[in-house]
Amino acid sequence: MSAERTEAPAPPSDNAVRALHVVLRSSETGFYLRRLEHPPEYTATFEQALVFDYVQDHVPLLIQKVRKSLGQCWQAVPLRISDVLETCDACHEMFGVPEIQFTGRSFYCVCCATESALRP
Ligand SMILES: [Zn+2]
Repeated sequence: MSAERTEAPAPPSDNAVRALHVVLRSSETGFYLRRLEHPPEYTATFEQALVFDYVQDHVPLLIQKVRKSLGQCWQAVPLRISDVLETCDACHEMFGVPEIQFTGRSFYCVCCATESALRP
């Protein structure tokens, strides 16, 4: 078995969707997309790469478009869940996944979630 996984990520279940963030990597150069412009800007540094929401940003469609219009192949590279930060809708601070909860409508950090639960 190879250590590198090349297959596409499994289709997400509803409550996994929010965690499916990816960066785009050029298969040709191995560089990551930094800015979606004409022409696109790339970086060798993973941390500087532009982060996409795989579902909300229609990443498969974007990859298809770029292949057609620019003749470039991009791969979606999933982020580790611990790399993904979400903004609390109440206090607007950013938190990692363990500290933030999705209520079905909003993201709340642990403190704001407790506060909103106490509200009538
Ligand atoms: Zn908060």
